[in-house]
Amino acid sequence: MRVAFLGLGAIGAPMAAHLARDHELTVWNRTVQRAREFAVRHGGRVATTPREAVASAEAILTCLPTSAEVAQLLEGPDGILAGALRGSLFLDCTSGDPATSRAIARRLAEYGIAFADAPVSGGTNGAEAGTLTVMVGGDADVFERARPVLACFGKRIVHLGPVGAGDAMKAVNNALLGTNIQAVGEGLAALAKAGVDPRLAVETLNASSGRSFVSEALVPERVLSGSWPRTFRLALLDKDVGIALGVARETGVDTPVLGAARDALHRARTLLGEDADYLEAIRLIEQESGTELRG
Ligand code: NDP
Repeated sequence: MRVAFLGLGAIGAPMAAHLARDHELTVWNRTVQRAREFAVRHGGRVATTPREAVASAEAILTCLPTSAEVAQLLEGPDGILAGALRGSLFLDCTSGDPATSRAIARRLAEYGIAFADAPVSGGTNGAEAGTLTVMVGGDADVFERARPVLACFGKRIVHLGPVGAGDAMKAVNNALLGTNIQAVGEGLAALAKAGVDPRLAVETLNASSGRSFVSEALVPERVLSGSWPRTFRLALLDKDVGIALGVARETGVDTPVLGAARDALHRARTLLGEDADYLEAIRLIEQESGTELRG
């Protein structure tokens, strides 16, 4: 199949690398050098505009920071709509927001292009391993067309409902992740201040009922080890929690706990900057509490 992939960021690039193995791939990235480096490593053709990237594509995939950038990429003389084929399939793997995804789907429909939101979970490791969970929102027939393409990098591909349902699912997932990161960081800092060795605290937690993905995987691999790799920007996590709060607001659900987590993560983003990794929220808790969560 002829496939176009636009947005070779931290997670987009390893996802596209799987597509390069199975399909005739064209890539586009705002910073073209990144696309050239991708093509040298993984193959595929480099396009210099979105229009050129999608010109002969049967499937178009995007993975950008927010839905706003995806909507922007559609328009203009070099935009996606200027080049995309009628009857093609557009899969947005951005962790987007449902309302903008619905607007994008309507705009694409004017050009005879089918749309599904298809955000992913599993991190850059999952993208490299091809084991992502893909959360799809769209019509059932669009989901069936999308499934084999998404299977190149996804292990669990779940149809959650109409356009926007994948985005809502992803946002709530990340709101729970962000809440847990903040809560685990605060709890471990309190234990450290109370004189409990952080490694022992994490080991005990992970043999007890308060354990979670954050305590079992993220904290040992990144915090206790002091390695702090940069794989997912805190700014993007903050964006996701904001989307989840928007979904809750629209549906009339009160979310005081998610709201408090959002305030803390947003503050961390403001203090640490747009390039900080999401687990640096815990580093900020360390700094402000005068603790170091190492073994
Ligand atoms: P990055 O910040 O690493 O990459 C962003 C990508 O978008 C780059 O290719 C960048 O191009 C491009 N871009 C940014 N602004 C624009 C713009 N205005 N117009 C066109 N292109 C633009 O993000 P990630 O790859 O980490 O994340 C992408 C999406 O995937 C986000 O929605 C994120 O929430 C989600 N996600 C990320 C995960 C992760 O572990 N990293 C996990 C699951 C979901 P350039 O190279 O020029 O800067």
